[in-house]
Amino acid sequence: MMSVRERARKAFQATRALGLPDQEVTPVLEHLLKLFNNNWDLIESEDYRALIDAYFELKENKGEDNRKNVVGDYGESSRLPKRLCLQDSEGQASPTKCSARQILSPEEHGKPSSVNLQQGATFLNKKDSSSSGCSNSCKKPQQQPVTCEKNRPLHIINDITKGTENVKISLVGDIGKQELPKFTYMRDNIIYQDAYVHISLARVADEDCCSGCSGDCLPVSIPCACAHETGGEFAYTTDGQLRDKFLKACISMKQDPEGHDSVYCQDCPLERLKNEYKPEKCKGHLVRKFIKECWRKCGCNMQCGNRVVQRGITCKLQVFWTREGKGWGVKTLQDLPKGTFVCEYVGEILTNTELFERNLKGSGNEKHTYPVTLDADWGSERVLKDEEALCLDATFCGNVARFINHRCFDANLIDIPVEVETPDRHYYHLALFTTRDVRASEELTWDYGIDFNDDEHPIKAFKCCCRSAFCRDVKR
Ligand SMILES: [Zn+2]
Ligand SMILES: [Zn+2]
Ligand SMILES: [Zn+2]
Ligand SMILES: [Zn+2]
Repeated sequence: MMSVRERARKAFQATRALGLPDQEVTPVLEHLLKLFNNNWDLIESEDYRALIDAYFELKENKGEDNRKNVVGDYGESSRLPKRLCLQDSEGQASPTKCSARQILSPEEHGKPSSVNLQQGATFLNKKDSSSSGCSNSCKKPQQQPVTCEKNRPLHIINDITKGTENVKISLVGDIGKQELPKFTYMRDNIIYQDAYVHISLARVADEDCCSGCSGDCLPVSIPCACAHETGGEFAYTTDGQLRDKFLKACISMKQDPEGHDSVYCQDCPLERLKNEYKPEKCKGHLVRKFIKECWRKCGCNMQCGNRVVQRGITCKLQVFWTREGKGWGVKTLQDLPKGTFVCEYVGEILTNTELFERNLKGSGNEKHTYPVTLDADWGSERVLKDEEALCLDATFCGNVARFINHRCFDANLIDIPVEVETPDRHYYHLALFTTRDVRASEELTWDYGIDFNDDEHPIKAFKCCCRSAFCRDVKR
């Protein structure tokens, strides 16, 4: 049997996960306990639904002020199901629902001040709640409180990036209905353990940077050395988008890989994983187009037009719960012209062996994101050491890109390799750009490049729900 203190601690754990401040939950909990004659079972049933509902009910009664936190209407709220507010509760059989209903009795309604803040059991006093193993600093609500408003998706998390990005990225959904994603937000890739990523100034050759430049590299009539990689023309226009010709070439390569050059490893790291003792022949890796951005040794400033990806996310994005069974997804909250940089795909940098082992060890319960193989330059050397054959895994650590759903063939984003700090290209950045004009509130998608027929791939492909007319998952 759990102690009362333990039960209170668990209740706060649940409400904190939704970003509700302890000091506001405390009076609601005290009130409910009184109402339920200290029957904790009623409070705990359905993941503290009575408590959470009562909290939002109180908030709503407090008036308009709190509604600022509710996400704006992006034109599809009417399609979203109603949040389960007390008035909307379907079915009356559950004791929780019936009991909670009492909170809305006419006497109580609109008089939240009747809840006595000072009253209540001793286990709720300040000293005790801070002894729950949580330091004071981590109790500051990172997430904004939400309010109950009919027909609207709600901010569950105000900023999933925890302030690491230039922009806030909210997560919206229906409170209590979806499991919140468990992961650590990271703005930049990080090495997990064995990956060999050698970043050093000495390795940046003079002909691979533009130390003679100043200000912005783009507007000058003769492009500097940093444009060599992209054929003497920068990949970006002065408006900050990808040059049309460059984008077109990347899309064509993505949509028709057979029509483009591939290289074949002598000893393919991917095949080695599938069968260590008798690896099959390399299936080939596309020779992909790279963007090369200015970096430390360049004379230009941080606002240089050839430093787009390294400046980070600038467009307004939102994580939302999709209606087509795809789980969480990402939408843009603003119109994005064709060729706009949206975000990088960020994750842990793993060797392919580490990824393989991680998947073997996995409990099977964690929701894996589809890993990205960094094989865009595997052709430059015929044999890669294990610590040089790398991939990105955003299952446990990653940025907003881990929520972007897959779409076969005609996705509105495309992934393009970007060289920033490592000229050897075993490691590089993978940046996502729009393939066409994208309207505000559209879901963002990219083609993970999955071969749905490859049953031996270390990561089992998921059942594709992309609804593209060109969907490759024909086994559906
Ligand atoms: Zn330059
Ligand atoms: Zn530059
Ligand atoms: Zn290969
Ligand atoms: Zn440069």
